[in-house]
Amino acid sequence: MCSSLKRIIDKFSVMSVEDNLKPSIAIISPSDVEVEVKKIEEELHAHQQLEGEKIKSILDDVKKLWDFISWLRIAEAQGVWKAKTCRHSINDRCQAWNISDPDRVGLPPDVVQVNQDGTKNVWVGKYPHFCIACPLYEAKRS
Ligand code: SF4
Repeated sequence: MCSSLKRIIDKFSVMSVEDNLKPSIAIISPSDVEVEVKKIEEELHAHQQLEGEKIKSILDDVKKLWDFISWLRIAEAQGVWKAKTCRHSINDRCQAWNISDPDRVGLPPDVVQVNQDGTKNVWVGKYPHFCIACPLYEAKRS
């Protein structure tokens, strides 16, 4: 298996809910994955002499990755839409959640705003991924 493919498969291997809360979580963006998948395709072309079965197996894995990228793009679009239309998003910052320990949930430090009273809000305009699965979404009232 080529090294790029192994890296991506390792990234997407099944994790427990607890694993997802650990600070070591990797933030994945569709464009990062696209670059990796394109590298894999280039490696495949460079190794045309591989046996047919191996190539078929790798191409199957590449197809799964493209499917996953599609899913990521949909999730990302949902996050962007929610971050823009949620009534709790004020000046691009979520006022609904106070994240006491941003490291624990894997939030990058540059997307967390620390307020004077010590509360911490997420800058959803910059990090809309936070909104993707949020149960507190409410549409802005016009
Ligand atoms: S969807 Fe959730 S995380 Fe996003 S702004 Fe609204 S309340 Fe905050």
